[in-house]
Amino acid sequence: MSIASQVEIIKSRIAGAAREAGRNPEDITLIGVTKTVSADRAREVMAAGVMDLGENRVQAFLDKYETLGNAPRWHLIGHLQTNKVKYIVGKVALIHSVDTLHVAEEISKKAVAEGITQQILMQFNISGEVSKSGATADEAKHLLESVSALHGLSVQGLMTMAPLGATETETRRLFADLRTLAESIDNEGFPNVSMTQLSMGMSGDFESAIREGATLVRIGSALFSHLES
Ligand SMILES: *Cc1c(COP(=O)(O)O)cnc(C)c1O
Repeated sequence: MSIASQVEIIKSRIAGAAREAGRNPEDITLIGVTKTVSADRAREVMAAGVMDLGENRVQAFLDKYETLGNAPRWHLIGHLQTNKVKYIVGKVALIHSVDTLHVAEEISKKAVAEGITQQILMQFNISGEVSKSGATADEAKHLLESVSALHGLSVQGLMTMAPLGATETETRRLFADLRTLAESIDNEGFPNVSMTQLSMGMSGDFESAIREGATLVRIGSALFSHLES
């Protein structure tokens, strides 16, 4: 099966989940996660109309960026180390995985030096019944308050990943919790913080995520796993 037909299948599943939830399918952006495929495959997915691409590692992103430049909108979705921040600020449209004040400060420093505003999401693993290790809502708000004081960045929303092995019910609950957290952060009215994007949902759970309000779904294997590589 071609990438183009795989894209069509995913898009119709996105549209189906959106309609079931009474949402407009156009409010959901499909991010093609190209971490397991070559730049040529990434070009094919772009030719099929997916203009948002995600990479989870800085070096792999830089390799593809060298070939594809700014033709796609780039999303950095994987864990980001402070010492790698300088390589990606201004090159990626959105950094999804900011999870500490330290990383946010580093992005701020680099963005100010370049005279740009970097758009970011804050990543939370919410603590609750499913994951005991994540942040509480109060911790999340404190972090957002500190980040909101930094120059050169703009927080567009939140990102989460369901833990491996979570059931569908648990996963859906986590996604609902992230949406609730975003609403309560929005009510704080922090400067430079708007909760317009919820990045949640991957190949195995994007329909649940859309039912719970996802605006960005990050999909890799469902697009590419049928290929030889
Ligand atoms: C790999 C990855 C994805 C895509 O996962 P699939 O299950 O292949 O769709 C999404 N988000 C992050 C952070 C990833 O690292």
